[in-house]
Amino acid sequence: MTTKAAERDDVRAAFAAALIRLELHGVSRFRDVRGPAAEIEEQARAAGDEEAVQRAALLRADVLLREGRIGEGGRIAHQARAWAEAHESPFVLARAHRELSIFYRLVGDISDSLTHGVQCLSNLTDDVPPGIRARHLMTLAVALDDSGSIEEGARRSKEALRIAEEIGDGELAVVLLNNMTYTAYENGDEPAARALARAMEVASIRSGRPLAANELDTVARVEMMSGHYETVERKLAGVLGGGIPVNEGDAAAECMLTLAEARRLAGRFTAAQAVLDRAIVECEANGLGRLRARARQEQAALHAAQGDFEKAYAEHLLFHADATALHSNQREARARALQAVFEANEARRASEHFREMAHRDALTGLYNRRYVNERLPALLTEAAARRSPVSVAIADLDHFKRINDTLSHATGDAVLQHIGTLLQEAAGGPVIAARMGGEEFLLIFPGIDGAEAQKRCELLRLRIRTHGWQPITGSLPVTSSIGVATTPDGRTTVAALLSQADRNLYAAKRAGRDRVVADPA
Ligand code: GH3
Ligand code: MG
Ligand code: MG
Repeated sequence: MTTKAAERDDVRAAFAAALIRLELHGVSRFRDVRGPAAEIEEQARAAGDEEAVQRAALLRADVLLREGRIGEGGRIAHQARAWAEAHESPFVLARAHRELSIFYRLVGDISDSLTHGVQCLSNLTDDVPPGIRARHLMTLAVALDDSGSIEEGARRSKEALRIAEEIGDGELAVVLLNNMTYTAYENGDEPAARALARAMEVASIRSGRPLAANELDTVARVEMMSGHYETVERKLAGVLGGGIPVNEGDAAAECMLTLAEARRLAGRFTAAQAVLDRAIVECEANGLGRLRARARQEQAALHAAQGDFEKAYAEHLLFHADATALHSNQREARARALQAVFEANEARRASEHFREMAHRDALTGLYNRRYVNERLPALLTEAAARRSPVSVAIADLDHFKRINDTLSHATGDAVLQHIGTLLQEAAGGPVIAARMGGEEFLLIFPGIDGAEAQKRCELLRLRIRTHGWQPITGSLPVTSSIGVATTPDGRTTVAALLSQADRNLYAAKRAGRDRVVADPA
């Protein structure tokens, strides 16, 4: 290696080391990342280390998204995704998908948030630090929770939590437990919420990092579920006293509203009014529109609790007007954010063309094994989240060697090309057809159960044997054997599903070839 190349490698290694530190940085002190990330971005650009530039930009996007500058953050994430796809960088791709999952969640698009959440995990390679994997698991878990796949979300959260504990990242553990507790609270699962809140408090004590205001609010809401209003008071006392760190801009006001509600429910109306007034000041000073509307709602409830229905009604009208205005503002903000990423999306389409080529088999034009390796795990994860079936079929040509040997390799190639066309025609819709190598093909049937997949494979087998092969192979027939395997709910591994299909394929060969074998119904 020349000295110059060695120097360049040293510089790259230094960027990578600095970046991974920032990528693993404490989740709640996210603003600290901005300065160092901007610095690396600039230096890396000057040094021509484009991957480091993208990683640094994604760190910046993360801060922007968390600060509510959604359009800017989303645009950077889209650009990074396009770059990663064009330059085959799985790590940047996974990071970009993670930020995109967060972006789409913020603009209220739960379905896209889930799609990117799945991708942010499936694009991670085995060699990433466990702390990165845990963060990506957390993003997927949140997207799964949002889309109502509570069990699937809990599974990812637990896995992330196990990693956080293993690597001693107490702060990450607390953040994960806070998400898990809040999900249980929202689902009205009091025993689970209580156990998780307890675990969060324990994790916080163990890591020596006191709970932040938003986390205390979660604990308080759980206490409220069982009417422990005194405990709510105790848990939130520190926030009111100003001694608790407030990571999120609206956490203090949120705590005050929780306290107002607890005091109202406990019948302590004067005290409730006092803290509600403080919450309103906090909302107005900081432009917290959503919480200001919630404060009106609480005010209406407080008037009503004291029998003043006239005031309650007036306040309710104001709440309603605020909430409506807020919704239309939110809609506009979402539209602006989506507009901001639109251009970046166009750039991505151009790069998709290149990616597409890398995913295709040159002889048949079908997808290749590499594409299957990238796509199938994500498909299974999505199917498991939606509890929907996935079938696969491995098709292998019968006595193909004979065609090569008695005719020619070129004839063999021509047969493979025709098979490619037949498979493509058979695929259509969500069905994916790939050449796995040699004369072996794979069909993936997302959302299609075993019986239907078997039926389609039977048709394909007939099409192959009855195709007009005579001009190509003369008197030699072309037939195929097909093995089908199905997971009814997506809950299996790629390896298990494919080896089941493989077993069925070999059963078809043993039974005399030119047939389809599927799992018994
Ligand atoms: P079986 O019915 O048991 O599957 O018998 P087979 O002859 O099809 O199976 P085998 O795996 O023994 O042979 C597959 C042959 O496919 C061997 C190889 O020469 C041929 N083959 C693999 N890739 C290509 C290719 O790209 N072009 C051509 N023409 N032949 C290929
Ligand atoms: Mg064969
Ligand atoms: Mg074979």
